[in-house]
Amino acid sequence: MAAAGLLLRQRAGGGAAALWRAQRRQRSTFDVAVVGAGIVGLASARELVRRHPSLAFAVLEKEKELAHHQSGHNSGVIHSGIYYKPGSLKAKLCVQGAALCYEYCDQKGIPYKRCGKLIVAVEQDEIPRLKALYERGLQNNVQDLKLIGAKEIKAKEPFCRGLMALDSPHTGIVNYKQVAQSYAEDFREAGGTILTDFEVTNMEMAKESSSESEDGLKYPVIVRNSKGEEIYCQHIVTCAGLYSDRLSEISGCSPEPRIVPFRGDYLVLKPEKCYMVKGNIYPVPNPRFPFLGFHFTPRMDGSVWLGPNAVLAFKREGYRLFDFSTGDFLDAVTYSGLWKLVLRNLSYGLSEMYRACFLSAQVKQLQKFIPEVTINDVLRLKFTVVTYSQKRRSPVILVTRTVA
Ligand SMILES: Cc1cc2nc3c(=O)[nH]c(=O)nc-3n(C[C@H](O)[C@H](O)[C@H](O)COP(=O)(O)OP(=O)(O)OC[C@H]3O[C@@H](n4cnc5c(N)ncnc54)[C@H](O)[C@@H]3O)c2cc1C
Repeated sequence: MAAAGLLLRQRAGGGAAALWRAQRRQRSTFDVAVVGAGIVGLASARELVRRHPSLAFAVLEKEKELAHHQSGHNSGVIHSGIYYKPGSLKAKLCVQGAALCYEYCDQKGIPYKRCGKLIVAVEQDEIPRLKALYERGLQNNVQDLKLIGAKEIKAKEPFCRGLMALDSPHTGIVNYKQVAQSYAEDFREAGGTILTDFEVTNMEMAKESSSESEDGLKYPVIVRNSKGEEIYCQHIVTCAGLYSDRLSEISGCSPEPRIVPFRGDYLVLKPEKCYMVKGNIYPVPNPRFPFLGFHFTPRMDGSVWLGPNAVLAFKREGYRLFDFSTGDFLDAVTYSGLWKLVLRNLSYGLSEMYRACFLSAQVKQLQKFIPEVTINDVLRLKFTVVTYSQKRRSPVILVTRTVA
């Protein structure tokens, strides 16, 4: 977007200055600024502009493209809402959200596949946990869930073995980047502005209006980016994904809960082996860990992803094995919550690191479900994704300033 460039405080004289001031007024004052153009920021901005069409909205994004991080790199599964605690907001929103996601994709012609999902128990001791998940799903109103036996597993997934499975036929897959881009289009069509390459580094309340201001203190929040450019607004909503805690702190709120970065590596089935997987195949999750476990996920492009694992990362949004940021590293290792997590899950963490290093160890995990998969059938995906773990795993949305 060229618009961000217009926000520079520059010295200009005469008519040029007047033009620049007019442009600046047009472009740099907003009723509401949303920080972060991931799917959460874009969905929030889209909904806000639909509800308040007379207000001026901006989305501020540090990258040059939209949905560049988690939203553009995730497994692409439309979850049906089985896992969450009954009665919780997450349970309610996940079930409603899945229905709304299908409806939205139908409206916009965004392709998806309702390919279903099996959560498969391969050991006897997983069966009580699988049955508990089934009860949970029923309480959450997930439609058409059923428990199936070994024969029905084979009928649905001919290469998968298991003692019992939870069959969720309405779980689907979609390309979330495409969904996010469509939200951005809706937002722009409704008059919203998206400023990319705009990394928010500072926010402050103006104490008095500037001499150039014709609006007085109507837009009292000054938002600055890494290039020293500024915008003015009344309200800010931050949806900054892996930087939620930093943005919270910048805006004068608490940095808790903190983000602790974990990297998730995916493998991919070789194209000639993708016939082995039809829908999503997941393990029975261990409730002691905040991850769903290494799973088989078909993608909209016909490929099949395997993973992700979860290993401590030394950089937020660091996609390569050796990506390192001193700030992120120090932030993580000086946070007591990380050490509690590490000590609680030491053996799990060590085995994840071992599996991350040795392909054969990851393949062994996959063979519990599809014994035919061999090390020759898989490749490492070229990029990796950063995930995170903390007490509250949902994205954090903070309204930092509300001026009537
Ligand atoms: C490995 C993995 C697999 C997943 N699989 C699934 C799945 O299958 N199904 C599912 O429903 N969910 C899945 N999720 C969860 C889902 O991807 C996330 O919940 C969702 O993408 C979060 O969106 P977001 O907008 O909060 O974050 P993000 O997509 O990370 O967006 C945050 C944005 O904020 C921007 N930003 C940060 N700091 C600043 C700043 N200072 N100034 C300006 N901009 C800033 C970032 O550049 C980024 O674009 C998965 C997550 C991971 C990590």
